[in-house]
Amino acid sequence: MFNALIVEKDEETGKTSAGVQQISEDQLPAGDVTVAVEYSTVNYKDGLCIGPGGGLVRNYPHVPGIDFAGTVEASEDDRYAPGDKVVLTGWRVGEVHWGGYAQKARVKADWLVPLPDGLSARHAMAVGTAGFTSMLAVMALEDNGIKDGPVLVTGAAGGVGSVATAILANLGHQVAAVTGRPETEEYLRSLGATQIVAREEINETVKRPLEGESWGGCVDAVGGAMLGRVLGQMQYGASVAAVGLAGGAALPATVIPFLLRGVNLLGIDSVMQPYDNRVRAWGRIAKDLPMDKLEAMIQSATLSDLPGLGADILKGQVKGRVVVDVNA
Ligand code: NDP
Repeated sequence: MFNALIVEKDEETGKTSAGVQQISEDQLPAGDVTVAVEYSTVNYKDGLCIGPGGGLVRNYPHVPGIDFAGTVEASEDDRYAPGDKVVLTGWRVGEVHWGGYAQKARVKADWLVPLPDGLSARHAMAVGTAGFTSMLAVMALEDNGIKDGPVLVTGAAGGVGSVATAILANLGHQVAAVTGRPETEEYLRSLGATQIVAREEINETVKRPLEGESWGGCVDAVGGAMLGRVLGQMQYGASVAAVGLAGGAALPATVIPFLLRGVNLLGIDSVMQPYDNRVRAWGRIAKDLPMDKLEAMIQSATLSDLPGLGADILKGQVKGRVVVDVNA
């Protein structure tokens, strides 16, 4: 028997509830690799899956946790052997297939990536889905060319934003960090932000579709009105990597920035990334993300902390990355 955070649904009321329970290995879903999970994390999607209503969960009872890192315990696939260190993000694990909020997980070998040299399971999960996606966003900006001006990061004090800030600064870019929490300025500067931009400054409504060419690139975790406004502030030919919708899904924008400034809007999806891209991104994370900055982002948690933390992340109240030690 081992511990897992189980989300259950009351069929009569439709209400969901989450709590730590003891389960056995034969309850795990089918898959070719069984992993002794060491760490998982709290992402925005996890908040939706743990919270009332169940968010993205497709079957009950359910073990959420959209990512995990650990050690292979048993494998029916030639690519993995007991003792191998592995990491998993995406593939709707934690939504459709049971995820990382348990001491064991059973998944398809195709969904796993070997942990790159130099990255511990704890640090891999300090990065987690949010940070992995930040790396994908930075890679997409690089592929399209980052201009000379500062690179804007929105939702900077959150998970995606914190990791993006640290990676971009470490690569030598000036980083302008947008935050609605002025008290995080010192934290954001410690990650390498060179400029702090108040959320209201970008969020205020401006009727002009084009403004000054302020930003050489952008990693946007917020979407909504903020993304709409940022598009009109990009330098000629610069790119915005759109990662998230913490500020809303509607996009109030015009086509003018695309027509008159050649702005690129790049959609970033971490869920269905092919194996080679995942390996490349994890390799870049191990190389380009300073571990001391990563340490500064970590808040530690246990399985029983998860219901409260899930609610906090949906309110935009989590700073940096929450690493869940499933064995604590
Ligand atoms: P967090 O909650 O950690 O960070 C989001 C940040 O956005 C908050 O910390 C806050 O930053 C800011 N924010 C929150 N609400 C608002 C608002 N109403 N208006 C403006 N800013 C707001 O979440 P993550 O960083 O983990 O995820 C961010 C987004 O990226 C989510 O929508 C998530 O679903 C998405 N995502 C997408 C992935 C993909 O594959 N495309 C993968 C991973 C995440 P501050 O306090 O600094 O203002």
